[in-house]
Amino acid sequence: MPDSPTLSIVVPMRNEAKNLARLHERLAAVLERLGESAEIVCVDDGSTDGTLDMLRLLRAIDPRVKVLSLSRNFGKEAALAAGLRYARGRAVILMDADLQHPPETIERFVALWRQGWEVVFGQRTDRRTDGAVRRWLSAAFYRLFALLSQTDLPPGAGDFRLLDRKVVDALNRLEERTRFTKGLYSWVGFKQIGVPYEVAERAEGRSRFGLLALWRLAVDGITAFSTVPLRVWSYLGLVVSSLAIGFGGWILLRTLVWGADLPGYPSIIVAIMLLSGVQLVGLGVLGEYVGRIFAEVKHRPLFLVREEIGFDDRASRPRSEALEPVPAEGAPPRPGSRG
Ligand code: UDP
Ligand code: MG
Repeated sequence: MPDSPTLSIVVPMRNEAKNLARLHERLAAVLERLGESAEIVCVDDGSTDGTLDMLRLLRAIDPRVKVLSLSRNFGKEAALAAGLRYARGRAVILMDADLQHPPETIERFVALWRQGWEVVFGQRTDRRTDGAVRRWLSAAFYRLFALLSQTDLPPGAGDFRLLDRKVVDALNRLEERTRFTKGLYSWVGFKQIGVPYEVAERAEGRSRFGLLALWRLAVDGITAFSTVPLRVWSYLGLVVSSLAIGFGGWILLRTLVWGADLPGYPSIIVAIMLLSGVQLVGLGVLGEYVGRIFAEVKHRPLFLVREEIGFDDRASRPRSEALEPVPAEGAPPRPGSRG
């Protein structure tokens, strides 16, 4: 059984063929300087542009490159989860394939890891590469998230980070389907430190995260880390019913004193529309949670693998995490894990 490498670089990618040569060149230079044993786990997330062929070529010239090809596009979060399951390094570095995450920053990550930090996350210093609308929306989301959930998201932290083996094992044990990875990184705890870095422009191609995808990510994040949106309705209901009782009492009194008249048609319509609107929103929020509970209950695997290239050194391989559950606490350590 060969020893596990010191570093695993996990790169999720979808249609990044044009960026791969440059990415590999810069990564290889960094790994050279670091002088540690390493593997580069490339997760091909259902690419349609020859990314996989490109990866085979890279593997032919650099055996550190390992390729995991998913059966279709599962999304970046699932691709990351797959990479984390397959990575064997004592430290795992997650980065994008589009060179927005400068590989040179990894040297600083590793230096801090050697000092004993268990999570070293990249913190983007500015968001100039994002448009104004996107920046505003993302600031609004972070404020809302901070308000609603107990989990702290460090500002500017994303998927570009180094995780110690302990942290990777912890993340691999989280079985949730709806993965808001940013929140999970914080949720697991451990000794964390940020490293500022400047986000580069995307090298080739364009971002696949449009506003709609970001909206979904935001709803995923909030529903995964807060139940406030669920519980707020009982309080709202309490307030509205108290008002209604008060108002009812007042109408009764007024009718007894001054007798009945029949104005107020518009106010009735407004009240009906307002309250049915509020109820529908409440139901919708309930639906968001029920839908996610349904997804969890079905227990479908997070990802399926079509092909794995270069992982032959492994005794047991998680083809999909549902077929081979991650060992629970107390289970014998996996080959290559320390301690
Ligand atoms: N990505 C992926 N699966 C997807 C979409 C994106 O693996 O369905 C990868 C993509 O190839 C890149 C990284 O995730 O390596 C970040 O994607 P992108 O640059 O589109 O997002 P942004 O930088 O705008 O957040
Ligand atoms: Mg990008």
